[in-house]
Amino acid sequence: QAKQNGRNGFQLFNPQLQSKAEKRLELENHLRRALERGELSLHYQPQVNTRKRRVIGVEALLRWNHTSWGPVSPATFIPIAEETGLILPIGDWVLNEACRQTQSWIDDGLPPMTVSVNISARQLQQPDFISLVRNALRASRLPARLLELELTESLTMDRTTSSEVIRRLKQLGVGIAIDDFGTGYSSLHYLKHLSINRLKIDQSFIRDLLADQNDQDIVKAIVTMSHSLGIEVIAEGVEATEQVRFLEQHGCDQVQGFLFSRPLPAEAVPAFLRK
Ligand code: C2E
Ligand code: MG
Ligand code: MG
Ligand code: MG
Repeated sequence: QAKQNGRNGFQLFNPQLQSKAEKRLELENHLRRALERGELSLHYQPQVNTRKRRVIGVEALLRWNHTSWGPVSPATFIPIAEETGLILPIGDWVLNEACRQTQSWIDDGLPPMTVSVNISARQLQQPDFISLVRNALRASRLPARLLELELTESLTMDRTTSSEVIRRLKQLGVGIAIDDFGTGYSSLHYLKHLSINRLKIDQSFIRDLLADQNDQDIVKAIVTMSHSLGIEVIAEGVEATEQVRFLEQHGCDQVQGFLFSRPLPAEAVPAFLRK
Protein backbone atom coordinates (compact mmCIF):
# COMPACT_ATOMS: atom_id res chain seq x y z
CA GLN A 1 0.00 0.00 0.00
CA ALA A 2 1.47 3.32 -1.09
CA LYS A 3 1.62 6.00 1.54
CA GLN A 4 -0.49 9.07 0.96
CA ASN A 5 2.33 11.47 1.65
CA GLY A 6 5.86 11.16 0.41
CA ARG A 7 8.79 12.50 2.36
CA ASN A 8 8.66 15.81 0.50
CA GLY A 9 5.03 16.26 1.28
CA PHE A 10 3.74 15.53 -2.22
CA GLN A 11 0.69 13.38 -2.73
CA LEU A 12 1.25 9.98 -4.24
CA PHE A 13 -1.08 7.55 -5.96
CA ASN A 14 -3.95 9.81 -5.01
CA PRO A 15 -6.61 9.76 -7.71
CA GLN A 16 -8.26 12.93 -6.41
CA LEU A 17 -5.21 15.09 -6.56
CA GLN A 18 -3.27 13.87 -9.54
CA SER A 19 -4.07 12.97 -13.07
CA LYS A 20 -2.79 9.68 -14.41
CA ALA A 21 -0.20 11.55 -16.45
CA GLU A 22 1.07 13.46 -13.43
CA LYS A 23 1.43 10.34 -11.34
CA ARG A 24 3.25 8.63 -14.15
CA LEU A 25 5.66 11.51 -14.53
CA GLU A 26 6.32 11.47 -10.81
CA LEU A 27 7.04 7.73 -10.89
CA GLU A 28 9.32 8.26 -13.87
CA ASN A 29 11.30 11.00 -12.11
CA HIS A 30 11.78 8.84 -9.06
CA LEU A 31 12.68 5.77 -11.11
CA ARG A 32 15.35 7.86 -12.79
CA ARG A 33 17.12 8.17 -9.42
CA ALA A 34 16.30 4.72 -8.03
CA LEU A 35 19.56 3.12 -9.17
CA GLU A 36 21.92 5.72 -7.69
CA ARG A 37 19.86 5.80 -4.48
CA GLY A 38 20.29 2.07 -4.07
CA GLU A 39 16.54 1.46 -4.08
CA LEU A 40 16.72 -1.41 -6.59
CA SER A 41 17.44 -4.99 -5.64
CA LEU A 42 16.96 -8.47 -7.02
CA HIS A 43 14.91 -11.25 -5.59
CA TYR A 44 15.49 -14.83 -6.71
CA GLN A 45 12.84 -17.47 -7.32
CA PRO A 46 13.96 -21.13 -7.36
CA GLN A 47 13.36 -23.27 -10.44
CA VAL A 48 12.86 -26.91 -9.57
CA ASN A 49 13.46 -30.12 -11.50
CA THR A 50 9.99 -31.69 -11.68
CA ARG A 51 11.05 -35.31 -11.12
CA LYS A 52 13.83 -34.91 -8.59
CA ARG A 53 12.34 -31.84 -6.88
CA ARG A 54 15.79 -30.31 -6.84
CA VAL A 55 16.58 -26.63 -7.38
CA ILE A 56 18.46 -26.29 -10.65
CA GLY A 57 18.39 -22.52 -11.01
CA VAL A 58 16.86 -19.23 -9.98
CA GLU A 59 15.09 -16.42 -11.82
CA ALA A 60 16.25 -12.92 -10.92
CA LEU A 61 13.30 -10.55 -10.41
CA LEU A 62 13.74 -6.83 -10.01
CA ARG A 63 12.39 -5.06 -6.93
CA TRP A 64 12.04 -1.33 -6.31
CA ASN A 65 11.79 -0.30 -2.70
CA HIS A 66 11.26 3.46 -2.71
CA THR A 67 12.60 5.25 0.38
CA SER A 68 9.27 6.78 1.29
CA TRP A 69 6.64 4.93 -0.76
CA GLY A 70 7.84 1.42 0.02
CA PRO A 71 7.73 -1.34 -2.61
CA VAL A 72 6.50 -0.44 -6.09
CA SER A 73 5.22 -3.33 -8.21
CA PRO A 74 7.19 -4.41 -11.31
CA ALA A 75 3.87 -4.34 -13.19
CA THR A 76 3.86 -0.59 -12.52
CA PHE A 77 7.49 0.40 -13.01
CA ILE A 78 8.81 -2.04 -15.65
CA PRO A 79 6.53 -0.64 -18.41
CA ILE A 80 7.63 2.90 -17.48
CA ALA A 81 11.28 1.83 -17.53
CA GLU A 82 10.73 0.31 -20.97
CA GLU A 83 8.92 3.31 -22.45
CA THR A 84 11.45 5.84 -21.14
CA GLY A 85 14.55 3.81 -22.00
CA LEU A 86 15.52 3.63 -18.31
CA ILE A 87 15.40 -0.14 -18.76
CA LEU A 88 18.78 0.14 -20.51
CA PRO A 89 20.88 1.28 -17.51
CA ILE A 90 18.63 -0.60 -15.09
CA GLY A 91 18.73 -3.78 -17.17
CA ASP A 92 22.51 -3.64 -17.37
CA TRP A 93 22.66 -3.31 -13.59
CA VAL A 94 20.32 -6.33 -13.25
CA LEU A 95 22.49 -8.41 -15.58
CA ASN A 96 25.69 -7.57 -13.69
CA GLU A 97 24.17 -7.99 -10.25
CA ALA A 98 22.55 -11.35 -11.10
CA CYS A 99 25.84 -12.71 -12.49
CA ARG A 100 27.86 -11.34 -9.56
CA GLN A 101 25.47 -12.77 -6.96
CA THR A 102 25.27 -16.20 -8.57
CA GLN A 103 29.06 -16.54 -8.87
CA SER A 104 29.38 -15.39 -5.26
CA TRP A 105 27.02 -18.21 -4.14
CA ILE A 106 29.13 -20.68 -6.09
CA ASP A 107 32.30 -19.26 -4.49
CA ASP A 108 30.62 -19.79 -1.10
CA GLY A 109 30.22 -23.48 -1.91
CA LEU A 110 26.62 -23.71 -3.11
CA PRO A 111 26.09 -26.17 -5.97
CA PRO A 112 26.35 -24.39 -9.35
CA MET A 113 22.94 -23.20 -10.53
CA THR A 114 21.70 -21.27 -13.51
CA VAL A 115 20.45 -17.71 -13.18
CA SER A 116 17.70 -16.48 -15.50
CA VAL A 117 17.56 -12.77 -16.26
CA ASN A 118 14.58 -11.04 -17.89
CA ILE A 119 15.57 -8.99 -20.94
CA SER A 120 13.28 -6.38 -22.51
CA ALA A 121 13.05 -5.97 -26.28
CA ARG A 122 14.63 -2.51 -25.91
CA GLN A 123 17.73 -4.08 -24.37
CA LEU A 124 18.05 -6.70 -27.07
CA GLN A 125 17.94 -3.96 -29.71
CA GLN A 126 20.97 -2.13 -28.32
CA PRO A 127 23.80 -2.43 -30.83
CA ASP A 128 26.27 -3.28 -28.05
CA PHE A 129 24.06 -5.75 -26.17
CA ILE A 130 26.41 -8.65 -26.85
CA SER A 131 29.33 -6.74 -25.30
CA LEU A 132 27.23 -5.87 -22.26
CA VAL A 133 26.51 -9.56 -21.71
CA ARG A 134 30.15 -10.48 -22.32
CA ASN A 135 31.27 -7.80 -19.84
CA ALA A 136 28.86 -9.00 -17.16
CA LEU A 137 30.18 -12.55 -17.55
CA ARG A 138 33.79 -11.43 -17.52
CA ALA A 139 33.41 -9.13 -14.49
CA SER A 140 31.61 -11.79 -12.47
CA ARG A 141 33.58 -14.83 -13.74
CA LEU A 142 30.23 -16.62 -14.09
CA PRO A 143 30.47 -19.38 -16.72
CA ALA A 144 28.30 -18.45 -19.71
CA ARG A 145 26.40 -21.73 -19.54
CA LEU A 146 25.02 -20.72 -16.12
CA LEU A 147 23.39 -17.57 -17.52
CA GLU A 148 20.00 -17.74 -19.23
CA LEU A 149 18.31 -14.76 -20.83
CA GLU A 150 14.49 -14.72 -20.76
CA LEU A 151 13.02 -13.00 -23.79
CA THR A 152 9.40 -12.21 -24.53
CA GLU A 153 7.91 -11.83 -27.95
CA SER A 154 7.12 -8.31 -28.90
CA LEU A 155 5.62 -6.49 -31.85
CA THR A 156 8.34 -3.87 -31.64
CA MET A 157 11.11 -6.40 -32.11
CA ASP A 158 12.46 -6.77 -35.59
CA ARG A 159 12.76 -10.46 -36.36
CA THR A 160 15.91 -10.33 -38.45
CA THR A 161 17.72 -8.29 -35.81
CA SER A 162 16.58 -10.45 -32.92
CA SER A 163 17.45 -13.68 -34.74
CA GLU A 164 20.97 -12.38 -35.35
CA VAL A 165 21.41 -11.18 -31.75
CA ILE A 166 20.14 -14.48 -30.39
CA ARG A 167 22.52 -16.37 -32.68
CA ARG A 168 25.46 -14.39 -31.31
CA LEU A 169 24.32 -14.85 -27.71
CA LYS A 170 24.23 -18.59 -28.27
CA GLN A 171 27.77 -18.38 -29.61
CA LEU A 172 28.79 -16.79 -26.31
CA GLY A 173 27.38 -19.88 -24.62
CA VAL A 174 24.45 -18.33 -22.75
CA GLY A 175 21.04 -20.00 -22.69
CA ILE A 176 17.93 -18.49 -24.24
CA ALA A 177 14.41 -18.95 -22.88
CA ILE A 178 11.13 -17.67 -24.26
CA ASP A 179 9.15 -16.20 -21.36
CA ASP A 180 5.35 -16.13 -21.05
CA PHE A 181 5.10 -18.65 -23.87
CA GLY A 182 1.66 -18.76 -25.43
CA THR A 183 0.76 -15.14 -24.79
CA GLY A 184 2.94 -13.41 -27.38
CA TYR A 185 2.54 -12.50 -30.99
CA SER A 186 4.72 -14.98 -32.78
CA SER A 187 5.67 -17.71 -30.37
CA LEU A 188 6.02 -20.37 -33.01
CA HIS A 189 8.26 -18.20 -35.16
CA TYR A 190 10.96 -18.46 -32.50
CA LEU A 191 10.77 -22.22 -32.49
CA LYS A 192 11.10 -22.47 -36.23
CA HIS A 193 14.05 -20.15 -36.72
CA LEU A 194 16.01 -19.95 -33.51
CA SER A 195 17.77 -22.37 -31.31
CA ILE A 196 15.99 -21.76 -28.05
CA ASN A 197 16.99 -23.76 -24.96
CA ARG A 198 13.81 -23.47 -22.96
CA LEU A 199 10.18 -22.42 -23.07
CA LYS A 200 8.41 -21.00 -20.06
CA ILE A 201 4.72 -21.88 -20.20
CA ASP A 202 2.86 -18.78 -19.13
CA GLN A 203 1.14 -18.95 -15.77
CA SER A 204 -2.24 -18.25 -17.36
CA PHE A 205 -2.19 -21.85 -18.66
CA ILE A 206 -1.25 -23.22 -15.24
CA ARG A 207 -3.67 -21.31 -13.03
CA ASP A 208 -6.77 -23.41 -13.87
CA LEU A 209 -4.86 -26.41 -15.14
CA LEU A 210 -6.66 -28.92 -12.93
CA ALA A 211 -10.14 -27.77 -13.89
CA ASP A 212 -9.67 -26.71 -17.49
CA GLN A 213 -9.40 -29.43 -20.14
CA ASN A 214 -8.22 -26.88 -22.74
CA ASP A 215 -5.31 -25.82 -20.54
CA GLN A 216 -4.39 -29.45 -20.03
CA ASP A 217 -4.40 -30.11 -23.77
CA ILE A 218 -2.38 -26.97 -24.49
CA VAL A 219 0.23 -27.83 -21.86
CA LYS A 220 0.55 -31.39 -23.18
CA ALA A 221 0.90 -30.12 -26.74
CA ILE A 222 3.55 -27.54 -25.77
CA VAL A 223 5.62 -30.19 -23.98
CA THR A 224 5.40 -32.66 -26.88
CA MET A 225 6.20 -30.04 -29.49
CA SER A 226 9.11 -28.58 -27.49
CA HIS A 227 10.68 -31.94 -26.75
CA SER A 228 10.53 -32.97 -30.39
CA LEU A 229 12.46 -29.78 -31.14
CA GLY A 230 14.96 -30.47 -28.35
CA ILE A 231 13.69 -27.64 -26.16
CA GLU A 232 13.15 -27.93 -22.40
CA VAL A 233 9.92 -26.75 -20.77
CA ILE A 234 9.36 -25.01 -17.46
CA ALA A 235 5.92 -24.14 -16.05
CA GLU A 236 5.47 -20.77 -14.33
CA GLY A 237 3.05 -19.93 -11.54
CA VAL A 238 2.83 -23.39 -9.99
CA GLU A 239 0.93 -23.10 -6.72
CA ALA A 240 -0.50 -26.58 -6.07
CA THR A 241 0.93 -30.07 -5.60
CA GLU A 242 -1.68 -31.51 -7.98
CA GLN A 243 -0.42 -29.18 -10.70
CA VAL A 244 3.09 -30.56 -10.22
CA ARG A 245 1.74 -34.09 -10.44
CA PHE A 246 0.03 -33.31 -13.76
CA LEU A 247 3.13 -31.55 -15.11
CA GLU A 248 5.36 -34.44 -14.04
CA GLN A 249 3.06 -36.99 -15.65
CA HIS A 250 3.20 -35.11 -18.91
CA GLY A 251 6.95 -34.62 -18.96
CA CYS A 252 7.30 -30.93 -18.11
CA ASP A 253 10.99 -30.62 -17.17
CA GLN A 254 10.91 -27.91 -14.51
CA VAL A 255 8.47 -26.01 -12.34
CA GLN A 256 8.58 -22.59 -10.73
CA GLY A 257 6.04 -21.00 -8.44
CA PHE A 258 4.85 -20.05 -4.98
CA LEU A 259 4.37 -23.75 -4.09
CA PHE A 260 8.15 -24.12 -3.87
CA SER A 261 9.07 -20.59 -2.98
CA ARG A 262 8.20 -16.98 -3.52
CA PRO A 263 10.99 -14.87 -4.97
CA LEU A 264 13.52 -14.55 -2.11
CA PRO A 265 15.90 -11.76 -1.17
CA ALA A 266 19.49 -12.81 -1.94
CA GLU A 267 20.32 -13.35 1.75
CA ALA A 268 17.59 -15.99 2.04
CA VAL A 269 18.68 -18.09 -0.93
CA PRO A 270 21.56 -20.14 0.61
CA ALA A 271 19.38 -21.32 3.51
CA PHE A 272 16.60 -22.30 1.11
CA LEU A 273 19.01 -24.24 -1.08
CA ARG A 274 20.57 -26.10 1.83
CA LYS A 275 17.28 -27.33 3.24
P1 C2E B 1 7.94 -12.90 -15.42
O1 C2E B 1 9.33 -12.82 -15.92
O2 C2E B 1 6.99 -13.76 -16.18
O3 C2E B 1 8.08 -13.35 -13.91
C1 C2E B 1 7.15 -14.16 -13.23
C2 C2E B 1 6.25 -13.36 -12.31
O4 C2E B 1 5.32 -14.24 -11.71
C3 C2E B 1 6.99 -12.67 -11.18
O5 C2E B 1 6.30 -11.46 -10.89
C4 C2E B 1 6.79 -13.68 -10.03
O6 C2E B 1 6.91 -13.09 -8.75
C5 C2E B 1 5.41 -14.14 -10.30
N1 C2E B 1 5.15 -15.49 -9.77
C6 C2E B 1 6.05 -16.47 -9.53
N2 C2E B 1 5.46 -17.58 -9.06
C7 C2E B 1 4.14 -17.31 -8.99
C8 C2E B 1 2.98 -18.06 -8.57
O7 C2E B 1 3.07 -19.22 -8.16
N3 C2E B 1 1.77 -17.44 -8.65
C9 C2E B 1 1.66 -16.17 -9.09
N4 C2E B 1 0.43 -15.63 -9.13
N5 C2E B 1 2.72 -15.41 -9.50
C10 C2E B 1 3.94 -15.98 -9.44
P2 C2E B 1 7.07 -10.09 -10.66
O8 C2E B 1 8.32 -10.32 -9.88
O9 C2E B 1 6.06 -9.12 -10.12
O10 C2E B 1 7.50 -9.65 -12.12
C11 C2E B 1 6.55 -9.33 -13.10
C12 C2E B 1 7.20 -9.18 -14.45
O11 C2E B 1 8.06 -8.04 -14.47
C13 C2E B 1 8.07 -10.35 -14.86
O12 C2E B 1 7.29 -11.42 -15.35
C14 C2E B 1 8.93 -9.72 -15.92
O13 C2E B 1 8.24 -9.67 -17.16
C15 C2E B 1 9.09 -8.31 -15.40
N6 C2E B 1 10.40 -8.19 -14.73
C16 C2E B 1 10.77 -8.51 -13.48
N7 C2E B 1 12.09 -8.28 -13.27
C17 C2E B 1 12.57 -7.80 -14.44
C18 C2E B 1 13.88 -7.38 -14.89
O14 C2E B 1 14.89 -7.43 -14.18
N8 C2E B 1 13.97 -6.92 -16.18
C19 C2E B 1 12.88 -6.89 -17.02
N9 C2E B 1 13.07 -6.43 -18.28
N10 C2E B 1 11.66 -7.30 -16.64
C20 C2E B 1 11.50 -7.76 -15.38
MG1 MG C 1 10.66 -14.14 -16.55
MG1 MG D 1 6.70 -15.19 -17.34
MG1 MG E 1 7.54 -11.56 -18.54
